[in-house]
Amino acid sequence: MTENIFYSLPDLPYGYKDLEPYISENQLRIHHDKHHQGYVDSVNAVFEIFRKAREENSDLDIKSFLKTLSFNMSGHILHSLFWFNMTPAGKSGGGEPKEHLAEAIIQEFGSIERFRKEFTEAANSVEGSGWAVLAIDENAKRLIIAQIEKHNVNFYPNFRILMVLDVWEHAYYLDYQNMRAKFTDAFWNIVNWQEIEERFNRAKA
Ligand code: MN
Repeated sequence: MTENIFYSLPDLPYGYKDLEPYISENQLRIHHDKHHQGYVDSVNAVFEIFRKAREENSDLDIKSFLKTLSFNMSGHILHSLFWFNMTPAGKSGGGEPKEHLAEAIIQEFGSIERFRKEFTEAANSVEGSGWAVLAIDENAKRLIIAQIEKHNVNFYPNFRILMVLDVWEHAYYLDYQNMRAKFTDAFWNIVNWQEIEERFNRAKA
């Protein structure tokens, strides 16, 4: 399986130590190099199984493989968004959203503070493993907070994702053990508002 590898692990846009003290080097390394890599490998493995079966014209458990593909592909996509919507604290991380994004947040949620509270609660209350998501409904031109279970359950087709927060235990357990809320609080210090604003502007364009 070499010539058909389409999906690969993106490099982090910062060093492994750069999100400390909010995410430790060890935590980030395992999350990126092991967990995210695992989703990428599984996606490529499923496509390789499809390729072989098509080549040999053999039977496949389509339902089972599509389920596996959906889970792993969604995991790959969400993690790729996640790394880039974080950035080292102080430099560009943290602070407040600006300009058009800030206006849209205030229009939808009433205030930045209210948005932050709702998003944090969404993250903290994900049942089991999942994500908190800020997305834009491009038809209605409105922002929406969503809660994804696993990597692919409860999301809305066709909404454009602007920001994600991974609240799988594998995202925070080494640093925060079972205290997810401490991790979601820490996230606001390393959130990359500039990247999220750029995604917002591309979605609106
Ligand atoms: Mn993860």
